[in-house]
Amino acid sequence: MIMLPFKLVYHDSYDLNLGEHVFPSQKYRLIAEKLLLDRIAEKQGFLRPEMARDADILRVHTAGWVKKLKTGTLSYSDIMKLEVPYSQELVEAFWYAAGGTIAAAQAALRDGIGCNLGGGFHHAYPGHGEGFCAIHDVAVAIRRMQNDGAIGRGMVVDTDVHHGNGTAAIFANDDSVFTLSIHQANNYPAHKPASSLDLNMEDGVDDQEYLGALLPAVHRTLDQFQPDMVFYIGGADPYREDQLGGLALSVEGLKARDAGVFEEVRKRRIPLVTTLAGGYARRVLDTVQIHVNTVMAARDVAEKYPQANLTGS
Ligand SMILES: [Zn+2]
Repeated sequence: MIMLPFKLVYHDSYDLNLGEHVFPSQKYRLIAEKLLLDRIAEKQGFLRPEMARDADILRVHTAGWVKKLKTGTLSYSDIMKLEVPYSQELVEAFWYAAGGTIAAAQAALRDGIGCNLGGGFHHAYPGHGEGFCAIHDVAVAIRRMQNDGAIGRGMVVDTDVHHGNGTAAIFANDDSVFTLSIHQANNYPAHKPASSLDLNMEDGVDDQEYLGALLPAVHRTLDQFQPDMVFYIGGADPYREDQLGGLALSVEGLKARDAGVFEEVRKRRIPLVTTLAGGYARRVLDTVQIHVNTVMAARDVAEKYPQANLTGS
């Protein structure tokens, strides 16, 4: 039996209950099952999160938006922007995802790495949701860690094919959080508020060009900003067969992306939290494999730089 040197955070309620939808929200369960089936993880390696507390959510989101979600009083325009049908299960899924990213951050403080097999809802703004994202789990976790005094400075590395507009807006005037987004320039969202660093990719960019832009930028930023924790938003949608993406990365290129970022973080002994974000490949199993590969990349980097080499704090 192989024990992962870090926890996988997962809850069956991550499923957004969307039915037939371009967002395959059953992917969370399929990823957890595949990690067990492929004997990458065993059951004891999983950690079941609780829903985030409202007090945690409210450090990022407005009371008005939280009330709309909890009472089911979204306007027609709110739902059009969110682009997913409203249900009580949907709301609970976002609260579980935020609780999951908090749990992964706490696990990362202990183990060096914590993987949430969900989350990465980077399009959520303080007062509204959009692009399948109602609650910004990563921002909620960063604010919780800061509030607990566990970290001072946080960094977000967002590799989803779509710009991290919610992240950029939430941390726009906050020097304690560095936001890096690498995304396709010519894609949703139309309005892209400035991240601390935006790497705008042209249509059809391949593995080599993408990695050549991303990895030196991550290297440089880690050296200059020196975050206490890195939050990775690992979109599967820069994949060349993605239905909502227009970049041309291969499955191998995406794994090299994950491994390259994780290595930069791990060798500097900075706790790493991973989340999933988007993935809309024609074959759902491709999306599942890309996300599973993210966990394998984390495992490989953890083995290459064992915990004994981490200072811990
Ligand atoms: Zn995306």
